[in-house]
Amino acid sequence: MRVLITGGAGYIGSHTVLEVLAAGHDAVIADDFSNARPAVVDRLEELAGRPIEVHRIDVTDEAATDTLFADGRFDAVIHFAGFKAVGESVAEPLNYYRNNLDSALTVLRAMDAHGVRRFVFSSSATVYGENPVLERTEDMPTSATNPYGWTKVMIEQMLRDLAVADDTWRIAVLRYFNPVGAHRSGRIGEDPSGLPNNLMPFVAQVAVGRRERLSVFGDDYDTVDGTGVRDYIHVDDLASGHVAALERLGEITEPWSVWNLGSGEPVSVLQLVNAFSRASGRPIPYDVVARRPGDLPAYWADPSKANAELGWRATRTVDDMCADTWRWQSQNPDGYPA
Ligand code: UDP
Repeated sequence: MRVLITGGAGYIGSHTVLEVLAAGHDAVIADDFSNARPAVVDRLEELAGRPIEVHRIDVTDEAATDTLFADGRFDAVIHFAGFKAVGESVAEPLNYYRNNLDSALTVLRAMDAHGVRRFVFSSSATVYGENPVLERTEDMPTSATNPYGWTKVMIEQMLRDLAVADDTWRIAVLRYFNPVGAHRSGRIGEDPSGLPNNLMPFVAQVAVGRRERLSVFGDDYDTVDGTGVRDYIHVDDLASGHVAALERLGEITEPWSVWNLGSGEPVSVLQLVNAFSRASGRPIPYDVVARRPGDLPAYWADPSKANAELGWRATRTVDDMCADTWRWQSQNPDGYPA
């Protein structure tokens, strides 16, 4: 397959490009580089041992996206392009709704116009909202607690409606839990601009000396040690989940499918911090501070649907996630070269 990967220069996108190539497909990147570094492409080419076709475009640009599809001969699309910072989405809801909905709509309309019908969507476990059942299954109702999450819920709904209207589509909605880690080579990884919003990159920056101390957001939750509990999944396991879904879409008759991509293992903030300290051999000084508004105490995946239907499972442990993050962070303390 010739696969267009929107947002393919980003954190999850870049790891997925390598998995798609390793599976024997061709991967083409479309990225506007608004939150990705051009150096990623050099690293990907070095790891893949071949040139990679890259289009520097904003996929909300209808004319540019249409031209891309007119010339592209794509068999499938994996759509990552979008804004992803929860806090920023609360401050700038209009930008989030416009960008995330518009990029999905523009890509889908171009696919429709050019007869490309296989679509893998980058969704999130955030669509499970505040359900009291902490082990999330795909049949739970969806909702959200912030504009970022609502964009995921809304795009999922658009995809359901599209599948009802035209059953020649093959759509996979992948709900990610907490992606962390980096490629085992240490050459590509997560490189947030500014203050990291997420736990793992923050911990990694403390370990490497870029930040002094971690703030742990609350230790009075009803969890194993009082800190928040999540399901961390290695980004390379996540990437291979995309390939499994992409290939599965060629075999099934349902136009719309949803799969959780998680490890199924609940891990607390302090458990992750301790694992990182062991992996890096560095202390991670931290202060317990107030809860972060909007955070849920705990949730994790039931990944059994993806395990059974995709023949896929997360294989890397929390120790692997920390070791690979540390390799990336220690070899690239300031992230990618500018
Ligand atoms: N967290 C923390 N300090 C940080 C960032 C995150 O204690 O600097 C906690 C957060 O409260 C949550 C967990 O780490 O319990 C994972 O947060 P993250 O932002 O990485 O992912 P989320 O699940 O919130 O999307």
